[in-house]
Amino acid sequence: MIFFSDMHIHSFASVCCQDERQTPENIVPLLAGKGYKKIGFTDHVWISKDVEPSHFYKTQNGERHLELFDFIRSCRWEIEVLVGCETDMIAPGVFGITPEFKEKMDYVVMATDHFHMTNFVQLPEEETPECLARHMLKFFISAAKSGIPDILVHPFFPYGYVELYDKSIASLPDAELLDAFSIAASNNIGIEINKCYLPKPQLDRCFSLETPMRILTLAKQAGCTFTIGSDAHNIESFDVLDKLQSLAESLDLSEKNIHPLAKIRKLKKVKKS
Ligand SMILES: [Zn+2]
Ligand SMILES: [Zn+2]
Repeated sequence: MIFFSDMHIHSFASVCCQDERQTPENIVPLLAGKGYKKIGFTDHVWISKDVEPSHFYKTQNGERHLELFDFIRSCRWEIEVLVGCETDMIAPGVFGITPEFKEKMDYVVMATDHFHMTNFVQLPEEETPECLARHMLKFFISAAKSGIPDILVHPFFPYGYVELYDKSIASLPDAELLDAFSIAASNNIGIEINKCYLPKPQLDRCFSLETPMRILTLAKQAGCTFTIGSDAHNIESFDVLDKLQSLAESLDLSEKNIHPLAKIRKLKKVKKS
């Protein structure tokens, strides 16, 4: 195991999580049993003074995050538990979080590619691989420059356009991707290895593993550090962590490639007298 943390977990507080078992009381012992030492909750949130939430975000206004935060802090857990949030952007420069709310969370992850939210997030002008690729690049660069997120989750994975994934990424030259990832690296923004990168041929995820591998390899080359995220919405989906660890292994990641947030606290050795 390279990573001892899963920094992207949805609790029952997320509207899209239908599993009542998805609670800290169930998740902490489950992941501790798998050898994990740290986890982070990242329920969806949209908070903006300028842009009204979509229907999906209407009730995901931060209240539940604060309740979860207080609850987590009020208990003792066998592993380290953080409470963050997964915020969104609907266009370059238009983000769904305020500095005040960020301050109340342990950390913030941001999605730059929720293009399946067709009535909310700006879509590419044309449904072509090249146009989608340019669109993703603009979103990513804007988020990386914003300095808002600690982690960019599932970067360059085009939700809503998975069938264009291979071709769109192939249309982006290495140099441009390296430049984009360098911005994230210089702002200490972590790049997430998310479960969406694992092809699922039986579903609509027929893409080549080489595509996310190229993205993550370039991120590593640009000096980015990484986290892994199950993005679990139900209690069964933590099984995916084993596969994410293998993916991290094939990227030849080591301690120095781990983002500070994903690192576990080193316990000081007590001298025996
Ligand atoms: Zn997401
Ligand atoms: Zn998520």
